[in-house]
Amino acid sequence: MSAESSSTKRVLLAKPRGYCAGVDRAVIAVEKALELYGPPVYVRKEIVHNRHVVDTLRERGVIFVEETSEVPEGELVVFSAHGVSPAVHAEAAERNLRTIDATCPLVTKVHKEVNRFAKDDYDILLIGHEGHEEVEGTSGEAPERVQLIDTASDVARAEVRDPSKVVWLSQTTLSVDETMERVEQLRERFPELADPPSDDICYATSNRQVAVKAMAAECDLVLVVGSKNSSNSKRLVEVALQAGARAAHLVDFAREVDQAWLEGANTVGVTSGASVPDVLVMDLLKWLADRGWADVSEVTTANEKISFALPRELRKVGQ
Ligand code: SF4
Repeated sequence: MSAESSSTKRVLLAKPRGYCAGVDRAVIAVEKALELYGPPVYVRKEIVHNRHVVDTLRERGVIFVEETSEVPEGELVVFSAHGVSPAVHAEAAERNLRTIDATCPLVTKVHKEVNRFAKDDYDILLIGHEGHEEVEGTSGEAPERVQLIDTASDVARAEVRDPSKVVWLSQTTLSVDETMERVEQLRERFPELADPPSDDICYATSNRQVAVKAMAAECDLVLVVGSKNSSNSKRLVEVALQAGARAAHLVDFAREVDQAWLEGANTVGVTSGASVPDVLVMDLLKWLADRGWADVSEVTTANEKISFALPRELRKVGQ
């Protein structure tokens, strides 16, 4: 590598990136539960969608289960940041499980919106990804009133009882631009479609998308640290490409970067999803520095100061 070509290598590092307030709270909740009650602590579904976080907690004595029915009677179970339906709460109560609800308050907010609109007899068109845990929990608040809108064909299929009483809500971790496209399609079918009282796509998801957009056009390659089941991380790859990055890839760990991606690249953008601890980003920066991309500049589009109180079950026992 010539001195000239190596001098053009640089990294643009998005800020904000990584942990959001809801993920931070959920992970601390599990750590506190381990500290207070000792292992095993059961967690329904992955507490947050990140391999490293899940593997680390598993090593410390957390048992991840898919369903509450797998938790032995009387044991402690933590509900993940993505939220659960009332049916899951009811099942836990029937089995005498002790519960800690680590649902992100911004997901709870959408649950409350579903309840309110269902009570007012609206049909609710929930924009989100089929099969995602958050959507299952949110729909479960009023399954008879909620229709999931994932693809354009779901828009064509949607049926409402009264076109003057229909509202759209959304999953918290979607692409802002794609969601607005879906809303426009829905509005063509239902001109009286009501908007949510406030944005459902959360601050962390939209801030991370704004940050990656701000640097994408300058990047030959954008590396997003995040897991394949993380909705907001996958959206960052798509947003980077749409905003002009020549290539973009999702990796859980630095070791997953294919050296071939770097061929001919000068500017490499780095960001991470809302469930990613920054240590994984630091590992990636070191990996890049070892290969000549040591010049790192942060591209800051927002300074986040949001934090949430711990779940109330943990506040009661003192911190
Ligand atoms: S991504 Fe948003 S909704 Fe999800 S846990 Fe983080 S703050 Fe909450």
